[in-house]
Amino acid sequence: MSQIRTCPDLPLLVSALADYPAVRKVALRTPAAMEHKVALITTGGTISTLGAPGGAIPKRGGAELLGALGEAAEGLDVEVIEFAKIPGCEMTPARMAELATTISRELSRSDMAGAAVTHGTDTIEESAFFCHLTVAGEKPVVFTGSMRTGSEPSWDGPRNLLDAIRVARWPQARGCGAMLVMNEEIHSARFVTKGNGLALGAFHSPACGPLGRIYNGEPMLFTKPAMARRIVEPKVDTNVLTVTALSGEPLDTLSQALARHGLRGLVVAGFGSGRVPLAWVKPLTQAVQDGIAVVLASRTGAGAVDDPYGYGGAHHLRSMGLVAAHEMPAPKARLKLMLALGNAMDSPALREFFENE
Ligand code: ASP
Repeated sequence: MSQIRTCPDLPLLVSALADYPAVRKVALRTPAAMEHKVALITTGGTISTLGAPGGAIPKRGGAELLGALGEAAEGLDVEVIEFAKIPGCEMTPARMAELATTISRELSRSDMAGAAVTHGTDTIEESAFFCHLTVAGEKPVVFTGSMRTGSEPSWDGPRNLLDAIRVARWPQARGCGAMLVMNEEIHSARFVTKGNGLALGAFHSPACGPLGRIYNGEPMLFTKPAMARRIVEPKVDTNVLTVTALSGEPLDTLSQALARHGLRGLVVAGFGSGRVPLAWVKPLTQAVQDGIAVVLASRTGAGAVDDPYGYGGAHHLRSMGLVAAHEMPAPKARLKLMLALGNAMDSPALREFFENE
């Protein structure tokens, strides 16, 4: 049997969304054995769109998405939780925290094998990464979406959804943390990023490639993440800003960020492997001395953050107390920093969290 539920603990989202669906229950199949169910948590995004006069908007709920699978849905024991119907650009760290709590609650059930989460692809890597760090346990948490709208003949939603559900109930996917399954690839949420705004194969993992692939509907896993995955509480301190190094960018940009009232953390998306305009070096080191956690990422979105230079580059900045966000785009480093501060990590713990995990 499959059920469709809304999240009772999300009045914020419910009231924010005029067409938020009522609680519905749909029986799709007889109960399966223990740990055979998949929680399908829908949040919106292009995968949920239907055409409208002004353009496609998120409209489909879980029942419609499962309906689009046709006969392929038979044999899947799916329970739908309607979390939201929002585009990716409306996702926030606070909503990610609610999403992580919802996933954890569903996965605590002994009959759940894993979770599949549909999401707008604009911020899917952020929510997936947030859940990678906040949803404990071995059960797979698989994010998916679509690049083409539900009104296009070549809509990639059903295929991606079916693959995500298969991976979510697949015992071999246990212990990988959160993943993204799209375009017949399985990626770790730790490394995946959107590398193209429109292409069907929009996602890649620059550091290490996909964990596996799905051929003819059969998942294959080639590798598992070796990096430690520390689980923290889904608590965020949002007093964090991001600045990007740009050629000729005035010092003002940085000064204004550092002057933000209550600022506790700053992510710097540096040039190359972590450099900034040289006028930024002194205020950044001063910020560290003033107790602001400053994380140095690469604006390339990948690669280790370090260098051999003697003129105030990444190596120097790290020696002055900036923390390296190796192999991590700035948007993910920002969420990680919000979580580190929200979990009251001290500086050694924060450095370990970023540089070795
Ligand atoms: N703009 C869409 C969103 O993030 C893109 C997508 O879902 O593919 O909601």
